[in-house]
Amino acid sequence: MAEYDYLIVGSGLFGAVFAHEAKKKGQKCLVIDKRNHKGGNVFCEQIENINVHKYGAHIFHTNDKEIWNYVNQFVEFNRYTNSPLAFYKNEIYNLPFNMNTFYQLWGVKTPEEAKYKIEEQVKASGITNPQNLEEQAISLVGIDIYEKLIKGYTEKQWGRKATELPSFIIKRLPVRFTYDNNYFNDKYQGIPIGGYNKLIEGLLEGIEVRLNVDFFANRKELTKLAKKIVFTGKIDEFYNNQFGSLEYRSLKFETKILDQENFQGNAVVNYTESQIPYTRIIEHKHFEFGTQKKTVVTYEYPDEWSLGKESYYPVNDNKNNAIYNQYKTLSEKDNTVIFGGRLAEYKYYDMHQIIASALQKSKIFL
Ligand code: FAD
Ligand code: UDP
Repeated sequence: MAEYDYLIVGSGLFGAVFAHEAKKKGQKCLVIDKRNHKGGNVFCEQIENINVHKYGAHIFHTNDKEIWNYVNQFVEFNRYTNSPLAFYKNEIYNLPFNMNTFYQLWGVKTPEEAKYKIEEQVKASGITNPQNLEEQAISLVGIDIYEKLIKGYTEKQWGRKATELPSFIIKRLPVRFTYDNNYFNDKYQGIPIGGYNKLIEGLLEGIEVRLNVDFFANRKELTKLAKKIVFTGKIDEFYNNQFGSLEYRSLKFETKILDQENFQGNAVVNYTESQIPYTRIIEHKHFEFGTQKKTVVTYEYPDEWSLGKESYYPVNDNKNNAIYNQYKTLSEKDNTVIFGGRLAEYKYYDMHQIIASALQKSKIFL
């Protein structure tokens, strides 16, 4: 007889939400994680009394009241609104692309003038049916913004030409003709007061978690422990890479403690020119309006992925999507394993989408 109903591989948001829902239904769960902490990529480490987002800046946002209420059961959120700045050749521009950006670039003051300027550039480009990220970006905001704020950032972030990338990536960013620097269009947004660990602790309360346990190091024994598995690791790894390895983009983080109160005056500054090797500098205290004497900053460097490195972003181009679809077909025949999350579904999911997906799967399977 198996000791647990579910073995949940991965204590990130997907695993934690599924485990919480399973426990509510009276199911006995064991969560394992190969890292030495819970929470996956939303994990925060306290340094100088500041919550440092260890795996990159995480801003919670959603349009879905149910998801917002769900996370608010575990932790209260502050009123943080993400308004990153872009640094290009010693100039600062507002993001996302809005009237402030258009004024800074062209001196235009009205939406009509800005629209005219963009339309003029789109017409000159001759693009009518965008086929890739470059064409999509130019047809949304014109050539000036593409060259100053998108091309360099995108190509270093993804290690590929913008012409080889899918257009959906750039559609994540709003384009608006109002003076509004909010990076997201969603109704609800904020940072958990006290950090993301509080959210994870709340979700996993009363559930057994074993850290530093890699599923693949002891697959047979671990599988025997439970009736079913929820797998949130890499789907290609689960199936021994039999259809080939999926490609990812990796990152390197360089974190510094600075003996000053305020380094850059904003939580997120993007560096959009190709010559600067990092994509952004995060000053963590500003997510929580911190007033500590010191500050902690993280430089985020895109990194070529290879086996063994952290897999942060799926590369959802046609080649990789075709490989993923083979794994997905295989997984659909397997009724003892539920695959979920960014790595197992090979999808560029945000946190709210992960929670929605975990809740949906828990409704189907539990
Ligand atoms: P993960 O958090 O990756 O968790 C998977 C867990 O499984 C990990 O802890 C891993 O150690 C464990 N695991 C994997 N394989 C094994 C194994 N073999 N054995 C044991 N354990 C295993 N979303 C937003 O909404 N807003 C943002 O601002 C935002 N910013 C982001 C910035 C960066 C740099 C990145 C990379 C992502 C960002 N996201 C953001 C997305 C967000 O991180 C994800 O949507 C979410 O954390 C994914 O949760 P998950 O549970 O699917 O995966
Ligand atoms: N992007 C850009 N310039 C910026 C910010 C973003 O060109 O200053 C593009 C880039 O291609 C990036 C995509 O928009 O990969 C999505 O940006 P987002 O901030 O959503 O990326 P994430 O936080 O998920 O890394």
